[in-house]
Amino acid sequence: MAEKPQPVQVLYCQVCSLPAEYCEFGPDFEKCKPWLIQNAPDIYPDLLKEADNQATDKVSEKLQSIGISSDGAAAPPATSGTSTSKKEEVKRLPGGKIKKKDKQEVIIEKVVRNKRKCVTIVKGLELFGVKLSDASKKLGKKFATGASVVKGPTEKEQIDVQGDIAYDIVEFITSTWPDVPEAAIYFIEDGRKVSAA
Ligand SMILES: [Zn+2]
Repeated sequence: MAEKPQPVQVLYCQVCSLPAEYCEFGPDFEKCKPWLIQNAPDIYPDLLKEADNQATDKVSEKLQSIGISSDGAAAPPATSGTSTSKKEEVKRLPGGKIKKKDKQEVIIEKVVRNKRKCVTIVKGLELFGVKLSDASKKLGKKFATGASVVKGPTEKEQIDVQGDIAYDIVEFITSTWPDVPEAAIYFIEDGRKVSAA
């Protein structure tokens, strides 16, 4: 194998002014090391490893000191806003299809059935994690009337409460189920959706 003759290149250490490969025999190899790592890594490959280890040590030291002082004043302030990540609003149907979650709102509709018999229909509580059978019982008890979970026209379950309780129900809902904000409650009045808030 005919290797090209390498031009003679002597790299002199800027710290001890010896040729770099002689630094380790020089007066202060320790002082040369940083320069050698930067400028002559090929000559002292071990120095790089050493430096790496030291860097790693430093990082873990740093981490440790951060951990130790995390409840002290020097700890960096927690970045705000990272915990407000939006909740997953997509449901997967059995077929794997993605179904967009219904808009979270409670609809209260007063309907008159059989002449003057009034029924207050409550829809959407389940969207706030409320168990409808439980809600039906509570509503019946609170308003001393009949209440039941029934399937509405779209096969969706709703609560039918006997009587006109529409105007007392909002406060009851928001105090019984704090997860339901008043702003998410609507009345249907004359076919129009009206915010309860
Ligand atoms: Zn040197």
